[in-house]
Amino acid sequence: MHFQAILGCNPEDKRIFVADPKEGSRHNRGCAVDLTLYDLKTGKPIEMTGVYDEMSERSYPFYPGGTSLERWHRDLLRHVMESEGFQVYEFEWWHFDYKDWQHYPILNLKFEDLNGAAAMKKAA
Ligand SMILES: [Zn+2]
Repeated sequence: MHFQAILGCNPEDKRIFVADPKEGSRHNRGCAVDLTLYDLKTGKPIEMTGVYDEMSERSYPFYPGGTSLERWHRDLLRHVMESEGFQVYEFEWWHFDYKDWQHYPILNLKFEDLNGAAAMKKAA
């Protein structure tokens, strides 16, 4: 991930949405997931109060704007995730951290590196 490049062109008030490269991203601990709901019939994402990765207050999980249906869907997602041990990130309705995420080390691995057997086969 090229956090420095993103941070370099990011205005001060948007920095809550971008990880500090010195501290790493919550995603680098392997305990975070970004997700939304989608309609099984259309295959399209459900409308929330803001769009994914939007850098505005509409991304806050308790943002009071939007339609009541958008807020209901956003809250439904949060309640379902909380029931499985995840906590919503205070600035992004789509970002959830699994419990105890702070206790996991910051890593920067590729997906192929996660599978030990595949990595060994590749090295041979
Ligand atoms: Zn995230």
